[in-house]
Amino acid sequence: MAKRISILGSTGSIGRNTLNVIDSLHGEIEVIYITARKNADVLVQQALKYRPSAVGVIDKEAAKIVENRLAGEKINVLAGRLGLLDIAARDDVDIMFNGLVGSSGMEPTLSALHAGVDVALSNKESLVMAGDLINREKLKTGTTLFPVDSEHSAIWQCLVGENLEDVRRIILTGSGGPFRTRELNTFSDVTVEEALNHPNWDMGDKITIDSATMMNKGLEVIEAHWLFGLEAKQIDIVVHPQSIIHSMVEFNDSSVKAQMGVPDMKVPIQYVLTYPKHAQATWEQLDLVKVGQLTFEEKDLKRFPCIGLAYDALRAGGTTTAVLNVANDNAVYNFLDGKIKFTDIPRIIEKACEDHEWIESPNLEDLLNLELWTTEFVKNAV
Ligand code: MG
Repeated sequence: MAKRISILGSTGSIGRNTLNVIDSLHGEIEVIYITARKNADVLVQQALKYRPSAVGVIDKEAAKIVENRLAGEKINVLAGRLGLLDIAARDDVDIMFNGLVGSSGMEPTLSALHAGVDVALSNKESLVMAGDLINREKLKTGTTLFPVDSEHSAIWQCLVGENLEDVRRIILTGSGGPFRTRELNTFSDVTVEEALNHPNWDMGDKITIDSATMMNKGLEVIEAHWLFGLEAKQIDIVVHPQSIIHSMVEFNDSSVKAQMGVPDMKVPIQYVLTYPKHAQATWEQLDLVKVGQLTFEEKDLKRFPCIGLAYDALRAGGTTTAVLNVANDNAVYNFLDGKIKFTDIPRIIEKACEDHEWIESPNLEDLLNLELWTTEFVKNAV
């Protein structure tokens, strides 16, 4: 029987890749729900192709357009943030694929787990915001969280058949982004265009900026903490510009396992959908001779202060990682809008983390309030 799936953020980079993988799996996966923020054209095309029972559109104007275009197609259209949350909470799917961007992905993750639905998580911000709540909900409902992030998929694959107590540390690899070798004293002149030009990965705007500041790697450290139950001191980062090794696990006997492949998000997406099977791929194979060299460098905390901020937030615990995440979301959008400099991003995040009212064990309401506080804080800091 086909596996039933809902895809949140189906018109974004991860969502479109997921639908491509579903096509190549020839009927193994049935698309029941898809949602978009405001890309009406692509969402309508997807709806007509996959025939979901409902679609969600967050932007209310775009929702009207989608409703008109799908009139008579027997596909329900749910509008607004409430429509998205409604779809996220439905229990008539086997897996919910969360391809949303930023803090807004947190609540849908919790809703799906609460409804007893497994979650394929591309939205790492969910765990950075609410890792503790998410793990508790998972335990309560006996659900599973599958990592889609390529580094965490790599760790997961390296851990198949292993015991967590045999793990000494994990090593997350990062390409170093477009500014790995840029002169440090020119960082305040970084333009949006330069920051959006990632050397290896083709991704959405927000995560591409996160890769340029390397906050993406910092968020992944926090994500790994919650996914694998490891302490900050057991999670290392190494810069690996070729993006061929997607991450590594070092065991107590100093044996190290690495997972490799072409840098293509379809690989971890397909593994989530076909686990524990590695199904036939339609994409390019890894050609190590063509790659030639794999190189490694120390992470540079001076160039990329966001990495240090993320480690500090993880050590501080409680609400600090949530504030880090929301401040980062908002600072990145302000940078994309040309309102702040590249170097303002870590400065604003650090200030927000310092100034917020810390809570050790926040509930959902605390986190939603903190999201509002942090958004307002960044607005005033710009
Ligand atoms: Mg990643």
